[in-house]
Amino acid sequence: MTNEAPLHNHFIRQIVIDDQASGKHAGRVATRFPPEPNGYLHIGHAKSICLNFGIAREFGGRCNLRFDDTNPTKEDIEYVESIQQDVRWLGFEWDELRHASDYFDVFYQCAEKLITDGKAFVCDLSADEVRAYRGTLTEPGRNSPFRERSVDENLDLFRRMRAGEFADGARTLRVKIDMSSGNINLRDPAIYRIRHVEHQNTGNAWCIYPMYDYAHCISDAVEGITHSLCTLEFEDHRPLYDWCLREIDLPHHPQLAASLAARGLDAPAGTPQQIEFSRLNLDYTVMSKRKLMTLVDENLVAGWDDPRMPTLSGVRRRGFPPAALRLLCDRVGVTKQNSVIEFSVLEGCVREELDANAARRLAVIDPLRLVIDNLADGHEETLAFPNHPKNESFGKRDVPFSRELWIEREDFMEVPPKGFHRLVPGGEVRLRGVGIVKCESLDKDADGTVTTVHCTLDPDTRPGLPGAERKVKGTIHWVSAKHAVAAEIRLYDRLFNVANPDDDSDGKTYRDHLNPDSRRVVQGWLEPAAADAAPETAFQFERLGFFVADRYDHAADKPVFNRAVTLRDSWAKASKG
Ligand code: ATP
Ligand code: MG
Repeated sequence: MTNEAPLHNHFIRQIVIDDQASGKHAGRVATRFPPEPNGYLHIGHAKSICLNFGIAREFGGRCNLRFDDTNPTKEDIEYVESIQQDVRWLGFEWDELRHASDYFDVFYQCAEKLITDGKAFVCDLSADEVRAYRGTLTEPGRNSPFRERSVDENLDLFRRMRAGEFADGARTLRVKIDMSSGNINLRDPAIYRIRHVEHQNTGNAWCIYPMYDYAHCISDAVEGITHSLCTLEFEDHRPLYDWCLREIDLPHHPQLAASLAARGLDAPAGTPQQIEFSRLNLDYTVMSKRKLMTLVDENLVAGWDDPRMPTLSGVRRRGFPPAALRLLCDRVGVTKQNSVIEFSVLEGCVREELDANAARRLAVIDPLRLVIDNLADGHEETLAFPNHPKNESFGKRDVPFSRELWIEREDFMEVPPKGFHRLVPGGEVRLRGVGIVKCESLDKDADGTVTTVHCTLDPDTRPGLPGAERKVKGTIHWVSAKHAVAAEIRLYDRLFNVANPDDDSDGKTYRDHLNPDSRRVVQGWLEPAAADAAPETAFQFERLGFFVADRYDHAADKPVFNRAVTLRDSWAKASKG
């Protein structure tokens, strides 16, 4: 991997360093990235991926990819597949691929243990009643009337829940902690609910499903995770995480050790430690799977991988290199302070990465014909252009040049404003890599629109000649009309036109803030060496920006390029008025 950022220290890295020094977790480091397969991964997830895999990689540890698939109603195999693809694209490989559902029987056995130990009970309260009994932030809750059921009755009811005797929502299994706890998560939380739905991994084997908090800590323990890294909203859940692990005491649970051994797994040696960090938020976008799903479902974008989406598959298609996301995560760092990062910081990372690693090409996206009258009809040359101005190892390529060229319409002005340094009637400009041309005359159509600019080329200013040093104010790019390949160019911009589309305090929602200009499609012209590129190849089209050959639609004879970023941050200018 190139352009890898230097490693910055942060509090989690420091905890791992200290734990290794003190011998905690026997010096082992094991992390996991635990997405719920209920949508595509987004840029926020990249932070968690870089952190979890990065820590494991740095400290010679292990990192699992674990699907937190305990909520079968929202999960889908499409998501399971895209998540794996995205993690690999970001540059990471998991040690083991696991599913929380792999441990459904472990969760079940642990629940029976809690019941047997008098720590869990089957509760018949409805969801509304549970809410009423729970109390509030200022008032303690009340014990469920079912809290004192005998162990035998609880075991019997729980087994019948599992056997499918009861309807969805009829009963839950709850742990007995403390209905007066200041932490509402500890007020006898449910750890199992009834859901008669098929699961994408376990089919119809189960009709009771564990709750996230309960399943997560046991999954971590079973996998021998040492540092369970999650986002700040789980801080208040940590006491429950610790309670479950303490009460279940997996390392000393005899049946469990046997059932794990039967699947080639060691009983956990230690207890994982949950550590929370702040989420990555970006302005000018939304980053919750629910909202992203809505954009897809309502056809406000062309799918999860629409290049305007903040999903990893979206930014990939947009042309953001994975190294740019890793750079962003490193720059943003890992802290406990919530903050919103400017989208321009991400775009800056993309520019930095592509500037160093993308070859240069010539393309014209709003064409105007330029004819060099003092070259012979049919004049053709091949010019050698460096592929990268700052890196000779990129080598050179052949660029065809001829009498008729396409230039950018905005590089010519008949009536120029003050300070316009490009081509004007009677004026001179340098054609990149060719020499200085002078505009002699114009052709116009019936509407008065300029259709052709006629120029003469000063032969003394060709490269290598002493006259090549002659100064003119502007340099413009071009492609040879005869050799150019027509291309579809998709000009993408930010999806939202306000910094905080999530802010609905004015009664508007993120849907009301979609940027109507976030996608424009134009037909442009490419030099042959740009068209002839594999899908996902990124280039700097000189003076225009960074573009990528579309992952799906591009073909050398029918090129399609997406604009990843412009060369400069035009939003900074615009928002400062
Ligand atoms: P969303 O709220 O977007 O649906 P989520 O937290 O429900 O996200 P999960 O699939 O549960 O998504 O997340 C997998 C892991 O990624 C979790 O450990 C979660 O904390 C982490 N994660 C999710 N969003 C972010 C974010 N914006 N920044 C950092 N980590 C994140
Ligand atoms: Mg979630």
